[in-house]
Order: sequence, then C-alpha cells, then structure tokens
Amino acid sequence: MKVLSVASEIFPLVKTGGLADVAGALPSALAGKGVAMRSLVPGYPAVMRALGRKKPVLKYPLLHGGKAVVHAARAGDLDLFVLDAPHLFDRPGGGPYGDAAGHDWPDNWRRFAALSQVGGDIAAGAVSGYRPDVVHAHDWQAAMTLAYMRYGKAPGTPSVMTVHNLAFQGQFGAGIFGELGLPGQAMTVDGVEYYGGVGFLKAGLQAAWAITTVSPTYAQEIRTPEFGMGLDGLLSLRSADLHGIVNGIDTDIWNPATDRQLGAVYGAADLEARAKNRSAVEERFNLQGDQSPLVCVVSRLTWQKGMDMLAGAVDGIVAAGARLAVLGSGDPGLEGALLGAAARHRGRVGVLIGYDEALSHLMQGGCDAILIPSRFEPCGLTQLYGLRYGCVPVVARTGGLADTVIDANEAAVEANAATGFQFAPNSGEALLHAVHRMVELHQNPVIWASIQRQGMKADLSWDRSAEKYAGLYRSLLSRKAV
Ligand code: ADP
Repeated sequence: MKVLSVASEIFPLVKTGGLADVAGALPSALAGKGVAMRSLVPGYPAVMRALGRKKPVLKYPLLHGGKAVVHAARAGDLDLFVLDAPHLFDRPGGGPYGDAAGHDWPDNWRRFAALSQVGGDIAAGAVSGYRPDVVHAHDWQAAMTLAYMRYGKAPGTPSVMTVHNLAFQGQFGAGIFGELGLPGQAMTVDGVEYYGGVGFLKAGLQAAWAITTVSPTYAQEIRTPEFGMGLDGLLSLRSADLHGIVNGIDTDIWNPATDRQLGAVYGAADLEARAKNRSAVEERFNLQGDQSPLVCVVSRLTWQKGMDMLAGAVDGIVAAGARLAVLGSGDPGLEGALLGAAARHRGRVGVLIGYDEALSHLMQGGCDAILIPSRFEPCGLTQLYGLRYGCVPVVARTGGLADTVIDANEAAVEANAATGFQFAPNSGEALLHAVHRMVELHQNPVIWASIQRQGMKADLSWDRSAEKYAGLYRSLLSRKAV
C-alpha cells in the first residue's frame, strides 16, 4: 500500500513539536506492515541541506509567484518528495513558520496552500509512476491537500487528516480565496469557508475520509465546546470517522538502560541505581538530600500546561512532604511566580528557567515522580518518558494523559496494574489531593516499586501506533472498494 504523507515538519530535519515526531517516526514503523510511506515536505534550507541525491519529478513554471520543483530524495530512512520553491521556503532563521524574531511570515497561507496544492497534484498522479492509495495530511499546514483532492482530480482517493493540536487552525480572510485556485463552489460552509473567511484545518476536516487525533480522550474532548475551539460542531458531525491514536516515543533515545545523559543507567530490576541520578538532580537544583519524594516538572511554562495552578500549589506540595524540581521556560509571569516559590522554599523547591534536553533526561532518570497538570493535552510526551524511566506520572485526567496513565486507586494497586496518579477536575485542590496520595504510597517501597515497574513495562513504541494507522488505511481502502 502506498501512502503519501504531507507535513510541514518532519523529524529529524525540521521540528517544532509533536507533529514532526509523528511524521518522522511513522514511515519506518509502517514499513514492516506493508505500508510504503513517502512524505511531501517543504524545501526549507535545513531540508535541502539534508538531502542526498535528488531527482526532479515534477516542475511548476509558476507556483504561487515563482518557479518550483518537486524532488524525489532520501534523507536517512525517509523517502521524501521535497517541494523546492525558494520564493516560499528558502528563508533565514526562526524555524519553519516565521522570522528570527518569532513573527509568523505574513504569506504563510500561500506557502502552505502551495504545499497542499502540490500534495493534491501528486495524489492525482502528477508524478509519473507514483500514485498513492491513501493520502495522510498533518495539521492545518497540510490540510488543504484534502480540499485540492476533493475539488480536483482525486476525490476518490481515501484520505486521513490528523490533528496534533486543535489550537492551530490556519484561519485567513476571505480575500485569499481567489488565489487558491479552487472552484467557487468550495467557498461554502461544507467546503473551505470558516466564519466568513477561509479555514485550512476546517477544510481538511470537512474533506477527509477519516480524522485522527493523538489520543482517544482528546478525540472525545474536541467534540465539546470546552475543547473544540470552534470546531466541535463539525467534529461531532464527523464523530463516526474520528479516531484517537496515541503517539509512540523513540525508545532508543529514551532508554534508561543505555541513556548517556544519566549518571547511572538502570532497568526495572535495579531501580536502586536511580539514587545516583536523584543525587545529581538534587545538586543541580540545590535541594536538600533526604528520602522524601522528589517531584519534577519539565514543561513549557504556560496556561495550557497548568503552570499557574502549579505555582499556586507549591506551598501545598512542600507541606505534603515532597520536594519539587522545575525545568521550563515560557510565560515571564509564570517564570517569576515559580522562581518566587523557590526562594520561599530554599532546599525544598528548585527552579531552572531554560530548555535543557540533557537535564530533562537526568530528571526522568532520578526523580520519583513527574507532575503534569495540563488543562488540555492532545497526547503529551513527558508522561510517556516518565513511565519508561520509572518516574511516576501524576497527571490531570485529560487528553493523552488520561489514556496513558493508570491511576493508583485501590483496585489498580491491588491488581498490580497502577502506573501513576490521575486527578480531576483540573484544580489546585485536586492536584494536591493527588500529591498527597503519591506521598503516601511512596512510603511503601514495595507498592512504589511495583508502580514504577508496571509503567516501565508499558509498550510505548511507535510500532503500536503504526499498527493502528495501518489498520485505518486498510479500512479506508476497503470502504473505497465497496
Ligand atoms: P508540548 O509539545 O505541548 O510542549 P509534550 O509533552 O508533547 O508537550 O512535549 C514536550 C517535549 O519538550 C518533551 O520532550 C519535553 O521533555 C520537552 N521539554 C519541554 N520543556 C523542556 C525544557 N525546559 N527542557 C528540556 N526539555 C523540555
């Protein structure tokens, strides 16, 4: 089965978030399952530099204001179609979407309409010798691919739209419609029209044969006004075609038995070795060394992540008998509040502002628990790393957090099934209640080690996700055959 994936980011070439991980990991995870995935990505400078031999397979004398060439190329394990359109993608600094100062490029609609138009052309067989059986578009930047297929020459090709975070929708004024090259009938409520303008993600959701998001609970939540960000009505209408598939993690990079960022490597059989990493974390965060549970937070410091709630709960966490190590950056107000809390609780609370990949590994490998009080969380990665490292997740019961952590309630503990702690509703009070439960169970080394080991046993590989995507592609193909 040939699947064309269209994405604006792909790991390891260009990454700002989880979308890149999924786009980068799926092709090799699918290869063993009878699915050959090729990915269409923009030719940003970083992508062009990474290509080995490349072969032009499609030429555009004029694509949204300039010449463009699609190259077939490989980069590592990835089989790519790269849209080389310098007037759109050869830009300095700042990542895929904006300038070095962090401002989005004003013509992002054009850049990603162009990507999508090319996706639609390839879907329709424009590259000689290649016609995909299924097209899989990621997030708003690729979503219009499905509209170009629907209103162009590939309405009969099954398609999947994956939403990584509904907060980003690609909404633009109606004025751009005339430049999209779509027929007039597309500018309707069941087409690309969205609140009087053009909605890229909306158009993709409308045109897709199937919709996925990155956890079953988030798939449910986005059908409600609270989480739906204006698209809950449409998503509810399409609920029969809406699926949640949890992301995997890179189990080679995140492997406590081989992780070079750790002072001591370990497995489920020698959890005592974690003590050395714990001491190293205590040292980095200027914390007193004792036997009380050491809880960490590794996060963007934002409202979505519940970091305001965390700041308000610090005194209670300390009073519950735990210590806290926070690594993160983001909202300056929240940074200040957390630094203030650390100053109030010297030796019990440490806060480092910044992004430090190596330290994040050490924290997972040494802390007893990781606290994740997100208000919404499409999938979430840090709880998955926590599970794999025996750093017990304490999480808000939302999105992917709800789907990946088994709460240590009495029945789950009794059955040796628990892997962490969940709390709801998402309030400081419920958070503290979970911290108290965590502190209590931490005092029982047998139960605590069982919770750690259960988490470490969980299958968090991409293989499992890939199996589900492959199943979905197959079901769409059989729907097509009917
Ligand atoms: P999101 O993508 O919404 O920020 P995820 O949990 O899906 O949340 O992924 C966050 C990723 O970023 C994880 O790999 C986490 O370890 C990493 N991360 C977040 N903040 C930091 C930080 N300050 N230092 C190091 N790694 C961080």
